[in-house]
Amino acid sequence: MSNAPLMKSEKDVSGGLDVIKVREDFPILQRSVHGRPLVYLDNAASSQMPRQVIDRLVYYQTHEHANVHRGVHTLSQLASTAFEDARRTAQHFLGAREEREIIFVRGATEAINLVMNSYGRAFIGEGDEIILSAMEHHANIVPWQMLCQEKGARLRVIPMDDAGELLLDEYEKLFNARTRFVALSHVSNALGTINPVREMVATAHAHGVPVLLDGAQAAPHIPVDVQALDCDFYVFSGHKLCGPTGSGVLYGKAALLEKMPPWQGGGDMILNVTFGRTTYNELPYKFEAGTPAIAPVIGLGAAINYLTAIGLERIAAHEQALLEYATEAVRDIEGLCIIGTARHKAAVLSFTLGDIHPHDIGTILDQHGIAVRAGHHCAQPVMQRFGVPATARASFAFYNTFEEVDALLKGIHEVRKVFA
Ligand code: PMP
Repeated sequence: MSNAPLMKSEKDVSGGLDVIKVREDFPILQRSVHGRPLVYLDNAASSQMPRQVIDRLVYYQTHEHANVHRGVHTLSQLASTAFEDARRTAQHFLGAREEREIIFVRGATEAINLVMNSYGRAFIGEGDEIILSAMEHHANIVPWQMLCQEKGARLRVIPMDDAGELLLDEYEKLFNARTRFVALSHVSNALGTINPVREMVATAHAHGVPVLLDGAQAAPHIPVDVQALDCDFYVFSGHKLCGPTGSGVLYGKAALLEKMPPWQGGGDMILNVTFGRTTYNELPYKFEAGTPAIAPVIGLGAAINYLTAIGLERIAAHEQALLEYATEAVRDIEGLCIIGTARHKAAVLSFTLGDIHPHDIGTILDQHGIAVRAGHHCAQPVMQRFGVPATARASFAFYNTFEEVDALLKGIHEVRKVFA
């Protein structure tokens, strides 16, 4: 059932973005939930897909599907061309120097596991140290912990202050002769903090230590240039960037990727196989064993093209305006406490409301058609740091409107009424 179109207001044309027009690209935003217009504010978990991406997937499945890289027939060549076009698209999106620095994976989690299994197992050993931050997603903690258990290495953690900003002096102090790796979120999913990663990479490099940046929450929201950041690895997921699930990117500097052993064996990652010995394929195929997620990757290429046509600067400006508007508005709500008040934030609003459990907040908001996330956001150490079991989190995308922020505020007042 379609909802009445939202009224266009001046406020909706922030950052030069015509949000009402943009929303027409997203079929799912037209639906209702529990008889109310859907207000989708769970974008940090997964964002929605525009018709341009859906159409690209349908075209691929109806005109081009075949396995890639192996066939001489027409369909295989079409699929291979589309797949490799997506690689070039991702390369330009991240500002990578070379196409072969882009490895397609299932998502940010798989990308980090790839680096841990390949780089980590080859170059990190007993007594070595890995620096992480206190605000990492479990995807950027658990793989490194597994490596530490296997190798007898240890994790060192950069602390943060009450606003959710990393303590850079403490970061500097963590480096010593045993430091081998730094793994750091570009933007925190639980707090929204945008970390000063360029400076933090420079610090690590001054100690000769490579850095992986987890860009799962950054790449969809702010312009990223891996050469300017000078990071050694950068990872992100397609489904948070208006693309399909099952697609993601690992960027790595070619010199490092060349030195790293493959992490999975199989077809496509080889040049020559005998029972005695296998010669591995060149980059990027050395790290892409087996049939890849062809359709999701092609969809990811379409999603990147869609976002870049809008412009990441315009996206960031609109989302920032939504965040400021929402942050200002919730300040007046009695008992509401924002978790994560860093000076530089992406459009994530994590909060608690008195002693009302965040799951209750999420459930009641859902009754009003409003989708937010409630829980620990796969960042339990962040919850421990702030002494809360969970938060409710509204996370905005460029297709969200100020009216939707107003709906959220109204919804929060409804929650308060239920528990009054
Ligand atoms: N890192 C961060 C900061 C995230 O927010 C997420 C997803 N919530 C991930 C990593 C993992 O992404 P995925 O589940 O798509 O692999």
